[in-house]
Parts: sequence; structure tokens; C-alpha cells
Amino acid sequence: MSTKYDVVIGLEIHAELNTATKIFCRCANTAGGADVSEPNRNVCPTCMGMPGALPAVNRMAVEKSILAGMAFGCRINDVVMFERKHYFYPDLPSGYQLTQLERPQCLGGGITLSTGKLIRLNRIHLEEDAGKLVHDEVRGETLVDLNRAGTPLIEMVTEPDISNAAEAVEFLEEVRSRLVYSGVADCKMEEGGMRCDVNISLKPAGAKKFGNRVEMKNLNSFKMVARAIEYETKRQAKLLDDGKAVAVQTRKWNDASGISTPMRGKEQEVDYRYMPDPDQLMIRITDGDVARIKKTLPKLAHELRAEFVAMGLPEYDADILTRDKDLTKFFINALGSYPSAKPLANWIMTHVLARATNYRIEISPVQLVSIIQMVDKKDISQKNALEIIDEIWGTEKDPKKVAKDKGFTNKVAAGEIEAIVVELMATNEKAVADYAEGPDKVVNFFMGQVMKRTGGRADSVVVKEIVVEKLS
Ligand code: ADP
Ligand code: MG
Ligand code: ZN
Repeated sequence: MSTKYDVVIGLEIHAELNTATKIFCRCANTAGGADVSEPNRNVCPTCMGMPGALPAVNRMAVEKSILAGMAFGCRINDVVMFERKHYFYPDLPSGYQLTQLERPQCLGGGITLSTGKLIRLNRIHLEEDAGKLVHDEVRGETLVDLNRAGTPLIEMVTEPDISNAAEAVEFLEEVRSRLVYSGVADCKMEEGGMRCDVNISLKPAGAKKFGNRVEMKNLNSFKMVARAIEYETKRQAKLLDDGKAVAVQTRKWNDASGISTPMRGKEQEVDYRYMPDPDQLMIRITDGDVARIKKTLPKLAHELRAEFVAMGLPEYDADILTRDKDLTKFFINALGSYPSAKPLANWIMTHVLARATNYRIEISPVQLVSIIQMVDKKDISQKNALEIIDEIWGTEKDPKKVAKDKGFTNKVAAGEIEAIVVELMATNEKAVADYAEGPDKVVNFFMGQVMKRTGGRADSVVVKEIVVEKLS
């Protein structure tokens, strides 16, 4: 696009918290690994929105939303409050969503992009997710599944600081990384564990006043976010070029056709008839709570990256090893019993990651270290090692046993080598006599003979030692 317009983008990001139970009842939480093999398996009167049920807030959901705020440097609000936000949706039986408006969990904070630009957060609030509608095309019916109803969600709202698709994607990747590393959410985008609404408007370059905004809801991949922003930027620029107004709208992004289409006029806050929920007490978060929760904040990817560099890893390696939480854990774990960071990183980056799809590592740190140690001790060759990795991948097999079974480690004993050398010396008197003049040549000759006799199974280092010892 030309430099005629400034693009203004703000994101609203929803992430499902991975608590064991739902936000206002004791039903198992889908995002926390609940069994959802059947619809409506994890439901009760509270998350089904029955009149008279009394929702009571889950302390872990509150604490995890505070932890999330800490991962972005937010201020933690001292008093928070739930409010009813009214909608009519068939998968929201109570007719309202419990969310936070006036007193959200966290305020401010943000992320600095690699360019040095700060993207500010306005707030992070805690709310409940709705259920799901399941359309049965064969029977022409729509069914309601409330397993997901009451899943704790955090909503992160940015200031309109983002200027293009690349910034949006970098921001989202960092958000996901911090939520996952802080342990509050798994952010499985394919499963809807993290969703993003994009708000976008254009204004004449340098103008103060923002233009009319369009909102695109529930984009569930970063690629979709980028494509939607690029399309919408062009569409709005064309309208403005033609002297037309951009309608304030909620638009639907259709990824298959690569276009956005109008859904409805954008709703206003007043449309939701927000009101404090009379069933909920205000929650006071004390300084003591904040200090206690802060202590439980795990190291984030950028902190671990810096630690890895400090232990001597190249930036490139540190970067790769902190792209996925399970991968980082694997590295740290293996490092515990194999404290040579660079060789270990090489093994992981070249041989382990090559075999893993989406960072699913199907070998344990113990198994890998056992293999590397066998190579270091020259019990097996590098080639043998790769064969063992393939053999044990996805199994619990002991690499040492596999090496033995495959015949990689049945090396010839030193005593046996000695006997062979003595015998060879007796039958090659001339070679023995030549030792003083050309020791290297003679040693090589005897080594070659030993290797021949043992079918290459002898350790060449050991053979050399014995040959030299006997000759001199
Ligand atoms: P709503 O809940 O109605 O969508 P908010 O005021 O919470 O409204 O804003 C949602 C998001 O829209 C925020 O990320 C904000 O930064 C962004 N936003 C607000 N005004 C504009 C604008 N003119 N252009 C682009 N984004 C905007
Ligand atoms: Mg919005
Ligand atoms: Zn329930």
C-alpha cells in the first residue's frame, strides 16, 4: 500500500485458561484436559445456566489471570468485579456472559517488538466461555454442547498501536509464547484455545483523528490474521480513494475465498446492558496475594533465551530452543545429566527436531543422553546412534540394550587384542625389526592386521595402544 494512509490496528485476544475445573463450577475444564468424548459430559446446573444456580468463582482462574498479567508487566487491580454482559445465543443458556468491565483483573502492560516499538495493552479481564453449536447436516438439526460453557477465558485488549500485519503476527506470537511459558494457557489455536479479533481502520497519513473501524471476529490462525489485515487494508483504502465512507461494521473473514463480508453493524457497549452480577462478591487482591503469585511465575522464553546465550550457546541455537515450551523443557532436562550445552544443542537441533513433527519429541532426555554418551565413549559410531534413535523413537526402549541387540557394542576385549598382537609379531619378524626406522608404518601395518582378524570390531584406539606398547 502507498503511504497515503496510516493503518491503525487493535487486537482483542481470547485465551482459554488451563485450570482443572471451570470458572464458576466444579465441572472439568475442556481446556484443562477434560474428557469431551461425549457432548454435555462435563455440565451441571451452574454451567447450564439454570435459574437458581449459584456460581462461585474458581480461585485458580483468578490467579492464572493475574499470572498472565505479570507476564506482560501489567498492573494488578486490587478489587475486581464480575458483570453480566447480555447476549442471546442458543449456546449461552443464561442469556448473559459473566465478564469484567469496570474492574478488570489487569491494567496496562505490553510487549516490545523486535523493532523496539511498544505495543501497549489496555487491559486483561477474566470471563466465561460459551458452549458450542453442533450442526448436524444429515438430520438438519442444530445441537447444543455445553462442555465448553464456563471455560475460563482471559481477554487481552491492546491499544490501537499496531500498524501492519507483520507487527500483528509478531505480537501474537509473543503473546502465545508468554501465555504458554507462564503455564496459564496452552493456546492450541486449531482447537480454539486462542482466538483473535482484529479491529482495523485507516486515516490520512499523519492525521490525529482515527477513521471508522471494522472488526473481524474469531480469527484462529496467525496466517488468517495477516491475510485478513492485508485484505481489509486494501478494501478500506479503495473506499477512501473513491471518496466513500468506511461503514462501522463487524465483518466476517472468509479464509477460503480470501475476502471479508459484512455481518452486522457494530454493537455498542450500551447494547449489552452490562450490570453488576448480584451473585458475585467483589474480589480483593492484596499485596500479599500479588507477591505470592509473582513467585510462581515461571521463566519466560526471552529470559531462558538470555540464559542459554550466557551459558555459551549461539543466539541462533538459543532462539530455536525457546520456540516451544516442551522443547525448552527437554533441553533443560537433558542438560541436567549432560552439561555440555553446545554439543547437546547440536544433537537436539539436527537429529531430534528432524524427527519431530510440531515439536512432538518422542524420545526422552534420558534416552538421548544415554545415546550421546555411548558415542562419546566410542562404544558406538555416530551412524549407529542415528539408527538407535530411529529404533527407539516413540518407545520406552533402552538405547543401551538396543545397541547391544543390534551388535553395535560387542567390541573385542583388550586381552583378546593383546593375544592377536603377540601372535602377529611372532609371524612377522621383519616388520618388528623395521619398527625403529619407521615406527608409524609398522604400527599401521599391525593395526590393519588386527582389524582384519577381528572384522573391524576392535576399538582402534585400544588396538593402537596395545600395538605400540608391545613393539616398544
Ligand atoms: P469493543 O469491545 O466494542 O470492540 P473496545 O473499545 O474495547 O471496543 O476496542 C476494541 C479494540 O479496538 C481495541 O484493541 C482498540 O485498540 C481497537 N480500536 C479502537 N478504535 C479503533 C480504531 N479506530 N481503529 C482500529 N482499532 C481501534
Ligand atoms: Mg471488540
Ligand atoms: Zn458445571
